[in-house]
Amino acid sequence: MPPKASKSKEAPAERPILGRFSSHLKIGIVGLPNVGKSTLFNTLTKLAIPAENFPFCTIEPNEARVNVPDERFEWLCSSFKPKSEVSAFLEIHDIAGLVKGAHEGQGLGNNFLSHIRAVDGIFHVLRGFEDPDIIHVDDSVDPVRDLETISEELRLKDIEFMERRVEDLEKSMKRSNDKQLKIEHELCLKVKAWITEGKDVRLGEWKAADIEILNTFQLLTAKPVVYLVNMNEKDYQRKKNKFLPKIHAWVQEHGGEPIIPFSGVLERNLADMPEDEAAKYCQENNVQSALPKIIKTGFSAINLIYFFTAGPDEVKCWQIRKHTKAPQAAGAIHTDFERGFICAEVMKFEDLKELGTEAAVKVYTSLFEISYVAINIYFHLAIASLQPK
Ligand code: GDP
Repeated sequence: MPPKASKSKEAPAERPILGRFSSHLKIGIVGLPNVGKSTLFNTLTKLAIPAENFPFCTIEPNEARVNVPDERFEWLCSSFKPKSEVSAFLEIHDIAGLVKGAHEGQGLGNNFLSHIRAVDGIFHVLRGFEDPDIIHVDDSVDPVRDLETISEELRLKDIEFMERRVEDLEKSMKRSNDKQLKIEHELCLKVKAWITEGKDVRLGEWKAADIEILNTFQLLTAKPVVYLVNMNEKDYQRKKNKFLPKIHAWVQEHGGEPIIPFSGVLERNLADMPEDEAAKYCQENNVQSALPKIIKTGFSAINLIYFFTAGPDEVKCWQIRKHTKAPQAAGAIHTDFERGFICAEVMKFEDLKELGTEAAVKVYTSLFEISYVAINIYFHLAIASLQPK
């Protein structure tokens, strides 16, 4: 339970993660037209945190910020009864439908692809529902074909980007002997060959130095993906859908990222009902909304984590990127905390819940941890590096 004193042993260096190093990360909803993207986005918008809670930023109509559900946060709020409660949130962008040929500009393609470049992860929505009234751009419902279409468009765009990069580097190499140019050129050729073989960048085993260079490119196939399969309510309720096994097999062959079934129609209906009626409906029909799982999975897919601070004034989740070190995590609260950082006093949520009060956890901890040094920064209550449960 108590933190171990481990001054001498340094943690092994972690391999950097592909993607931007920022705590302001967002995920985009991507898919072919008529698969249920807007239905999902509109439902999420109904759950969105009101824009006035973000007074210093503009929230566009295609953006929603939704709370990340967390029982621990609720427990902290009910224990501390704070004046202000700030939960973690996921920023979701609705990106209009991609079609085959988008990388060459089909159906506003390049525009959409640039929107995907601007997000840090992808909710890839797949159509797993059949409905003769809702046409499919490619005439029939076949989510595996759709998966191929979208992932190919993203790869083709990345190949185009890498080709341009290789050309630029070759021009620069004629003018300069800079070793770094050669390193980057070699990597670009390697990455280009990898994507040309039909493989996505995020699935490669890149070295730490490669990842640092790759992170300057914002490649579309480097972004983490969560697959969301939209199905009719009946299929969702009985957890069976004729397309699901094939989708599962395809995803396993292509990186094995999470697949979450949901029903756009059910989610929309639930969002339109008053809360108690929705709860009654779920109980009577033995269904549950998939949105909490979608939000939590998306949040962790884009490598966000958070820690809590808690007290009578405020219970708050502080969002940071996975692998953030304690001084930078403290900097999320205030830049002075990072500049003057000495150490952080951290306690585990489970310990607090078990022992009941912060003071009890401290007494317990001090029995084991005699070597606690002077504490300059004091997180009133900080629980580090916990994924949402
Ligand atoms: P988008 O083009 O991907 O944004 O798709 P939309 O969300 O606009 O949905 C296209 C159409 O499919 C709309 O008429 C939705 O009402 C309908 N739709 C969405 N989800 C489902 C579903 O689970 N089942 C059925 N039958 N229709 C759905």
